[in-house]
Amino acid sequence: MGKKIVVIAELTEGRLAPATLEVVSFARMLRGADPAEPHVIAAGKGTASIAEELALQSGLDVTALEGDGLDPYNAEAFKGALVPLLDAWKPEYICLPHTARGCDLAPGFAIALGAGCITAVEGIRKVEGSVGFLRSLFKGKVVMEAASETETTVLTVLPGAFKMMDAPTKRKGAVEFLLTDCAPRRTRPLGLVAAAAEQLNLSEAEIIVSAGKGIGSEENLDLIRRLAALFPKAAIGGSRLVCDLGWLGYQHQIGITGKTVSPRLYIACGISGAIQHTSGMQGSHCIVAINKDPHAAIFRIADYAIVEDLTTFIPLLI
Ligand code: FAD
Repeated sequence: MGKKIVVIAELTEGRLAPATLEVVSFARMLRGADPAEPHVIAAGKGTASIAEELALQSGLDVTALEGDGLDPYNAEAFKGALVPLLDAWKPEYICLPHTARGCDLAPGFAIALGAGCITAVEGIRKVEGSVGFLRSLFKGKVVMEAASETETTVLTVLPGAFKMMDAPTKRKGAVEFLLTDCAPRRTRPLGLVAAAAEQLNLSEAEIIVSAGKGIGSEENLDLIRRLAALFPKAAIGGSRLVCDLGWLGYQHQIGITGKTVSPRLYIACGISGAIQHTSGMQGSHCIVAINKDPHAAIFRIADYAIVEDLTTFIPLLI
C-alpha cells in the first residue's frame, strides 16, 4: 500500500482535536519535497463527516475507521484496530499529537510494530538526507536531537510547536471508510465527564488570559475571569507559582512543566516571563503583557507591552 507518513487524528465525541491539524503541518514539513503526501486515519464515531471535512481542509487522503470500542476512546480497541492496518502499510513515520491519548498509543504501536518511538517532538532538522527530531530535555535547558534507526518510527508531536495549517488546499483528498471489529476484552471505558467551562482545553483555546503571581491574591482571579469571558473561545492559564499557591489547578499551568500553547492571543497578566513559563507560550501569534515592572522579561517577547498595575488596567480594558 506504501504510505510513507501516517497521521493518527484525535477525535473526542465526534469532534476533531485541533492538535491533529498541527500534526498534519508537521507531517507535511517532514515530507518535504517527497511527492508522497501524508495519509490520515480518523478512528472513532461519526468519522465519515470528519474524514470528509479533513480531506477537504488538508487535501490529504483519509481513512475513516469505525467499530465497537473506538468511542469512547479505548487503548486496547485502538491498538487492535490500527496495528493491522499500520503493519500492512509499513509507513516510515506514524505521527500522533503529544496528548494524553497520543502518549498512551505511541509506545503500544512501537512495541507492536517493532518501531522506534520519539516523543514530544518540537522541531525537525534535515541534513544531507538524514532526519533528526528535536525535543527539549531538562526543563528546556537542553535540546536533544534524536534519529531513529528503525524502518518505522512513531512520533508524538508537541501541541503548540507547529502552526496548524490555515488555508484550505485546492484539492480534496480521497476518503475511504472501513469497519473494524475490535471490541476490547480487558478494559471497558465508562464514559467521559465534561470539564467545567473554566477548564476549557488550553490547547484548543484561541485566546488565553494567563495569571501570574503579580495578580496579588486569589480574589483578583475574578479580573482574569471577567477578561477571558469577553472572548468566545477563551481559556484561563497560569504560571506555576499561581498553581503552586493553589489559586488555579495544575491543569491551567503553562510552561515547561505545564502545557505548551500557541493561541491567537495570549494575555499575560502579572507574569515575570521566566524561561520556564515563556517556553510554553512563546509560539502564541500575538502576546500582550501587563506588568508594572518596565524591565520584566516578558516584555522581551511581547507584541504589546502595558506597563501598569493590572488592577488598574484590566478593569479599564474590560
Ligand atoms: P513572579 O516571577 O513572581 O512574577 C510576578 C510578576 O508580576 C513580576 O514581574 C511583577 O513585576 C509583576 N507584578 C506584581 N504586581 C503586579 C501588579 N499589581 N500589576 C502588574 N504586574 C505586577 N513556571 C511556569 O510558569 N511554568 C512552568 O512550567 C514552570 N516550570 C518550572 C520548572 C522548574 C524546574 C523550575 C525550577 C521552575 C519552573 N517554573 C515554571 C517557575 C518559573 O521559574 C518562575 O518562578 C515562574 O514562572 C514565575 O511566576 P510568575 O511570573 O507568576 O511570578
